[in-house]
Amino acid sequence: REQQHLLEVSNLNGWYGESHVLHGMTFNVGAGEIVTLLGRNGAGKTTTLRAIMGVVRKRRGAITYKGSDIISLPQHKVPWLGIGYVPEERGIFATLNVLENLMLPPVTQSGGMGIDDIYQLFPNLRGRDQTPGTRLSGGEQQMLAIARILRTGADFILLDEPTEGLAPVIVEEIAASLQVLKQRGLTIVLVEQNLRFAASIADRHYVVEQGVVVDEIANEVLPASMDRLNSYLGV
Ligand code: ATP
Repeated sequence: REQQHLLEVSNLNGWYGESHVLHGMTFNVGAGEIVTLLGRNGAGKTTTLRAIMGVVRKRRGAITYKGSDIISLPQHKVPWLGIGYVPEERGIFATLNVLENLMLPPVTQSGGMGIDDIYQLFPNLRGRDQTPGTRLSGGEQQMLAIARILRTGADFILLDEPTEGLAPVIVEEIAASLQVLKQRGLTIVLVEQNLRFAASIADRHYVVEQGVVVDEIANEVLPASMDRLNSYLGV
């Protein structure tokens, strides 16, 4: 038998109503890897994350996590496997302060990150417990959204465009935090438009086009593969 990956997605199809968006996504993620999904707007990257989480309900194919098929699981059960989702819109509640936002989701796994550890990883959040969520900058909200998932104990994280709209210095801070998480053994699937950021942290990249994985590029050969990649991304 082939080596088992932590996540195996095989011939995944997905629909929004009658609209067929995923047309047979196949990819895998090994334990401890950072793997990206790259592709143009509308390629189906976000939908793939939402299909893994069970947010997109109309799915066909196989999604295997730690050897068990999870495609039939209802949405509310998926986080209890230690799978965390940080959506593009981040989901920070304006009417809650930083600490309340952090404490909102239930702890689903032992080994969830403690508050001190979180503030060590994201120093920008330290001392901001009472600050309303929306008083934070975009970058700080992104950090809070990631921190909130880490507190639950999730060790397999789906991250949707965490750097979107952020200043380069903040992007570097987030890259450094994700490196620390990788060193601790967490596994990350990252949807990203910022290639420089993706290349600074990822092990492998999958290129998605019209709901299908059309290429896979190891991070070591990314610089030598830019022509190929740009032809997909239309840069
Ligand atoms: P982006 O970077 O723009 O989010 P993406 O690769 O993540 O790109 P998706 O958001 O997964 O792309 O969208 C894939 C396709 O599904 C697009 O054609 C999009 O218009 C469509 N789509 C996305 N969300 C919905 C929805 N809620 N209902 C119907 N169609 C949707």
